[in-house]
Amino acid sequence: MSEVTTHCPYCALNCGVRYEVAADRIVDRARWKESPLTAGALCSKGVTAHLQVHHQERLAAPLVRRGSDLVEVEWDEALDRAADGLLRIRNRYGPGANAVLSGGSLTNEKVYLVGKLARLALGTPHIDYNGRFCMTSAGAANKLAFGADRMMTPLAELERAEVAVVIGANLSAAFPVAVPKLLEGVRRRGGRVVVIDPRGSRFVRPGDLHLRIRPGTDATLFNGLLREVDRRGLIDRGFVRDRTTGFADALAAVANTTPERVVEHCDIPIELVREAAAVIGGTRRCIHLHGRGPEQQVGGVANVLAIINLGLACGHVGGPGRGVNMLTGQRNGQGGREWGQRCDQLPAGRRIDDPADRAVVAERWGVDPDRLPGVGRTYVEILDAARRGEIRGLLSICTNMSVSAPDLDRVEASLVALDHLVVIDPFLSPSTRHADVVLPGTTFAEEEGTITTIEGRVVRCDQAVSPLAGLADLDLLGDLADRLGAPDGLRFERGRDVFDEMRRVSAGGPVDYSGMTWDRLRDEGGLCWPCPDEDHPGTPQLYTGRFAHPDGRARFHRVTQPAPPEPVGPERPLVLTTGRVLAQFLSGNQTMRIPEQQALAPGPVLEVHPDTAAAFGLVDGEPVSVTSALATSTVEWTSNPELRPDTVFLPYHWPACNRLVAAHLDPISRIPAFKYTPVTLAPTPAAPTDDRPVAKEVTTR
Ligand code: SF4
Repeated sequence: MSEVTTHCPYCALNCGVRYEVAADRIVDRARWKESPLTAGALCSKGVTAHLQVHHQERLAAPLVRRGSDLVEVEWDEALDRAADGLLRIRNRYGPGANAVLSGGSLTNEKVYLVGKLARLALGTPHIDYNGRFCMTSAGAANKLAFGADRMMTPLAELERAEVAVVIGANLSAAFPVAVPKLLEGVRRRGGRVVVIDPRGSRFVRPGDLHLRIRPGTDATLFNGLLREVDRRGLIDRGFVRDRTTGFADALAAVANTTPERVVEHCDIPIELVREAAAVIGGTRRCIHLHGRGPEQQVGGVANVLAIINLGLACGHVGGPGRGVNMLTGQRNGQGGREWGQRCDQLPAGRRIDDPADRAVVAERWGVDPDRLPGVGRTYVEILDAARRGEIRGLLSICTNMSVSAPDLDRVEASLVALDHLVVIDPFLSPSTRHADVVLPGTTFAEEEGTITTIEGRVVRCDQAVSPLAGLADLDLLGDLADRLGAPDGLRFERGRDVFDEMRRVSAGGPVDYSGMTWDRLRDEGGLCWPCPDEDHPGTPQLYTGRFAHPDGRARFHRVTQPAPPEPVGPERPLVLTTGRVLAQFLSGNQTMRIPEQQALAPGPVLEVHPDTAAAFGLVDGEPVSVTSALATSTVEWTSNPELRPDTVFLPYHWPACNRLVAAHLDPISRIPAFKYTPVTLAPTPAAPTDDRPVAKEVTTR
């Protein structure tokens, strides 16, 4: 019997967990009290996470397509076929005809290798990840305003905050461990919690200030709050003068956003708008926490910039109990943005379109800078290019676009149009239906590596058991790179060896891991970047003295509210907004196989305000059809009085949701507008259209 410590594979809180292992199997779970932030606490998903590791539906052998069947073969045959298809396409159509899509659950080491494989082995610029659906608006706005893309203030600083502002984040479902408790502390000490969300949820308490905002109007609200804070004389003039630029311009841009205008656009009572301005502007100890609500919109970047403008104006950054914090969603969504999983990035937060950054990375990789491709297409754009025949080969690693991407009919057409689809995943999924080759991936417990938590803390995951299918992802990527004719540099024994190379590559860069060692990560409970030398304690709190822009100053921005491309109207009068439920994670490809999680949330349920249900004639116990401009889904429904009457909510874990959502993108972040889809409802006695949790395909020999 041995004990192994690692971190939950699902959300970016990355709760620590200890497993007892015997005969290469996880036999028990124990509380890892010393783990950072969450001290061993787990939500129900974390409690059952290890059940995926030895699950009977795990892929135990590689599969290749023969006719309509996926057939088990030996690793060599599957890897040959995977590489041959990609090489054939590269030779015939050029390197840009292949693309790579991956997920936010990969360790930093795999992210790094996948980026290296795409750029050096395939030579394609088209690599992106599902963090594009999650953090790109927040990341882009943070880079514009502060010069870096990371949560600025550790969550434990909520213990020193007098006010917490939660914007479009359902903490009860998305961050159930530690964060709701920290908010309780704010209330207990006499502070206020301000919630800005069209929908209430369990973490909202009586006494909280809940602004039930009309979807798609976040920038207008925050512009109005900035104007009102200024009118009340609550601007932190010293901070604005000493540490920022662009305030006068940003303030001029909100001159017409009066409280009356906010009421008209955002549909929030005027007294709540004024109270919110007084509460937020009345203290320097305020932490803003923004989630996907304001971010997954065509104005995602603008919305976050408006939030940041308010935080900067009030001096809510750079010190104890202060922060404008993005809430990263996926396990390693943060690491994915740091290590080259995105089409515009090189490792360590370097830019692929910056000649100096390219030169550094090329030198450390031992290649000519001209070998590095330029900026490629983003996730949705890669799928669109596939449908048009411009991209013909796709390597997909732990991302399930057939559930997670918008406009699923269009995704289906894209996958059908591909000449060659290679999927690496521990399980079959709806996305493997069109795969030519499926390579069994490792689960979180079968590999060692690091992940970067919601706070920018790099933590270590130790390996508990051997990979079920006999090949670790690290070796799989190395074998694939060999077959693609890659130079040396993608072959490593262990995760810690990749980490050592990453440290060297990161030295002096914006995301500097060079002072972190494998042992320090365990001994010190993780380390926050930048950590430039082995005596450096890491940097949990950013921006105490200067921001990451070359002049050290933060930037205000002029913000105007972008309009939705398709607004609500008589035909489709309600806004569909989407999000998570606690028991499931992303496309459910892991959690929906775990009976305990399925029992808690077996299928998609539409939430509807009771007045809206009555107005649309919905019948208790009978499904509802939800119709957008693209499609109709039939689902169960439930009454939720905590929701705005003009808004309905559907969790995105099932295809019933994203087949309704159009692929409208923010012009900067290219994030899809998951939070605003005009729909209409109708009662129906028909059975729900989508009750399949996950496609379970039979594999044959
Ligand atoms: Fe923690 Fe998130 Fe895992 Fe739940 S899903 S145990 S909150 S890391």
